Amino acid sequence: MGVPPGVEIADSEGAATAHATPESPPAVAAAPVRGGLRLPDEAQSQLDACVHCGFCLPACPTYRELGMEADSPRGRIDMVAAAACGELALNDPDLSLHLDRCLDCRACESACPSGVQYHQLFEAAMTQLPARRPWARGTVHPEGPAFAAAARLVRSGLRHILPRPRVLAFAVRLATGLPFLAQRLPPGPAALIPVLPRPAQVPGRRRLPRVVAARGECRGEVDLFLGCLQDAVLGGDNVAAAYALAACGYDVHLRGGQTCCGALHAHIGDREAVRRLGAVNVRTFAGTGRPLVVTAAGCGAVLKDYGHLLADTVHARAAAGLSKRVRGFAEFVGTCDSRPVAMPPAGAPVRVTWHDPCHLAHAQGVRREPRDILCAIPGLEYVELPEADACCGSAGVYNLLQPELAEGVLARKMENIAATGARWVVTENAGCLLQLRLGCRRAGLDVRVLSLAELVAEAYGVTAQ
Ligand code: SF4
Ligand code: SF4
Repeated sequence: MGVPPGVEIADSEGAATAHATPESPPAVAAAPVRGGLRLPDEAQSQLDACVHCGFCLPACPTYRELGMEADSPRGRIDMVAAAACGELALNDPDLSLHLDRCLDCRACESACPSGVQYHQLFEAAMTQLPARRPWARGTVHPEGPAFAAAARLVRSGLRHILPRPRVLAFAVRLATGLPFLAQRLPPGPAALIPVLPRPAQVPGRRRLPRVVAARGECRGEVDLFLGCLQDAVLGGDNVAAAYALAACGYDVHLRGGQTCCGALHAHIGDREAVRRLGAVNVRTFAGTGRPLVVTAAGCGAVLKDYGHLLADTVHARAAAGLSKRVRGFAEFVGTCDSRPVAMPPAGAPVRVTWHDPCHLAHAQGVRREPRDILCAIPGLEYVELPEADACCGSAGVYNLLQPELAEGVLARKMENIAATGARWVVTENAGCLLQLRLGCRRAGLDVRVLSLAELVAEAYGVTAQ
């Protein structure tokens, strides 16, 4: 197997060879960490399945942006392979550099004819690198000190603020109410402050009763997953989702005790945090037996993966059962035979398009349902977005850590949105919503970016609840 350009290889004595490309970062004065990356059997089989055809390269946003093999899926797979067999040191700066540049968007998986599940390799590598990652004291990250500072801030926020709804809501209010604070943030987090709703929305968990009763005849019951940032920043979408589901004929239960799903922690390889949070959610929802409806694609993807993530814990069986009951909002409404029937009178039809969140389209395979819903709502003229399933650059915390790369990815998305002439862009993920709003603001596009839950609630006329 070849090692991609830009990758530093430790020789058999553990000494590092020279970097091969002009783009490579300065060497880090740390002894190479010996011993190979440990790959679970399922990840090893993904490695074996890759035939190096390169069909995934054109689908990869970072390869399109940077044009480097090392920033392509195939290049990263080769680096993971080199680390697994001990050719590449675990603390090699190039390994961190190119893995950190990956959006974990999984577009390469949809493009791969061999069915390689790239994310299994990515996650195995990311979970074994943290001790040598930017937040570890004394490390020098090849992306530089600004990246390391943002990474430390983000990781601290993920660990200590996200799982605490009151603290999170307070932090959001501070960030939106005190602009001078935003100026002290690193560029990635600072860029998003202007697109947070003002005034800060009251979280859905404070606005919703324990049960929102079905409108008309009850067709069944569901639990609603509120999320952390989703609820603190876009609590109105959770409220809209609850009343839209009730309008579809379902009793909607809001379980106390639910917490952050861990999706953002998974993005930075903090698997321990994912499992800790996952255990809380499994205990909260395991016994209900109801479908668990989720309004954020990133949360849905990780909740559907709990069976795998908690497989070697005491919660294994309950986690596997819960994973099978998870449904995205579009997935549930698109298949429940109760479609929204009317839009409020708005004159001429509104041209609308759909942005596929990566963790809905690539990770969960949900593509048809949201389009069916949009096409079924009178008053909307649906137009397909070119490259609809290409990442917008949000990618969990990617836009916070890699603002320049994320900006390039977002600019391409904005060009595609502008080409549709759509007045509304609909999606189903908090990160995508904020990122697209940021893109529209930067591009000067007069486009309303809204969640599918908000749109369906409007179609049912339940927005005033
Ligand atoms: S991941 Fe799939 S598409 Fe990409 S090089 Fe390997 S086999 Fe080919
Ligand atoms: S997950 Fe996305 S960014 Fe990462 S290698 Fe695959 S296509 Fe590229």
